[in-house]
Amino acid sequence: MGTRGAITRLTKDGFEGRYHHWDSNPSGLGEQLFKLYHGHFKENLDAMLEELIDKHPAGWSTICCRDFNLKAGYIEASNQKRNEKTGEYVYTKNPKLTNRPLCYCHGDRKEKTWLVTQKNASDSGVEWVYAFNVQNKTMQILASYNEDNTKMIGMFGCGNPNATWKIIKIVELDGKEPDWKYIENNVREESHKTYENIKKKEIAKFLSNTKEAFSHVGKSGLGIGDMAYAHYLMWYLQDVKEHLFYDTKMEIAKRISELTLKNPIWEDRETNYIKDFPELEPYSSTKQISGLQLCAVLEGIVKDLQGGSQ
Ligand SMILES: [Zn+2]
Repeated sequence: MGTRGAITRLTKDGFEGRYHHWDSNPSGLGEQLFKLYHGHFKENLDAMLEELIDKHPAGWSTICCRDFNLKAGYIEASNQKRNEKTGEYVYTKNPKLTNRPLCYCHGDRKEKTWLVTQKNASDSGVEWVYAFNVQNKTMQILASYNEDNTKMIGMFGCGNPNATWKIIKIVELDGKEPDWKYIENNVREESHKTYENIKKKEIAKFLSNTKEAFSHVGKSGLGIGDMAYAHYLMWYLQDVKEHLFYDTKMEIAKRISELTLKNPIWEDRETNYIKDFPELEPYSSTKQISGLQLCAVLEGIVKDLQGGSQ
């Protein structure tokens, strides 16, 4: 999985080091760094950081599950061949190097120096940073957060330039190995809770805003007694609801509310509003959406959101 990260040293201004592209979450890169320190680099942190930061200035595709007894370098897909028996890929130029750590500056790639810093990291989609303190023999695990306090997720080389970095854990390199999955899941769960709370607040605000529009429709005496209205309400609840994101639902409801405040659209069974509601169009078999139907959708959305978050 392309989870972006960085291997860095702590500096006066934060951290500074190299990009790491694949599996940079604690249970991937975090664990591998701890294992390399105790294994291949035999507790020599200076030697380890020299190799991981100074000698590979363009950064890493991945160091996870790679053999540091081999010379690091990139392997282009065109220089790989599949072993038909085992299914494993083999580096055609030098099969002995197949399991080498993959950097962007040696082997088949010669990319430029790229210094990842606390200032530029989140903008390029970096989600996890491992920042080493050479004196104290510690590794800080940092995670990037959005302004609303949810975990930043990087995509296609882009992140949130305004994200802030929080220290998730300080690992004593000579101490007990932490539970990497636990650290990772904790961050995910906390962020999910924060997101749920934001959503709840938004829905509460939305419901109080639509109250007025809804009471107009309510006063008109529509309801389950009206066959067409009941039919439309079922249509929303059964065929539409599950396909829409909650913010799309609120957006649709807002537009319907505005219409109801201008005109008694619940009395309108003629006008076709489908062009104004392209989000609903894929679910309408008749390609016809009347004012009455919109009011049923509004009730459906309110019911749906009152029932909790999706
Ligand atoms: Zn390199």
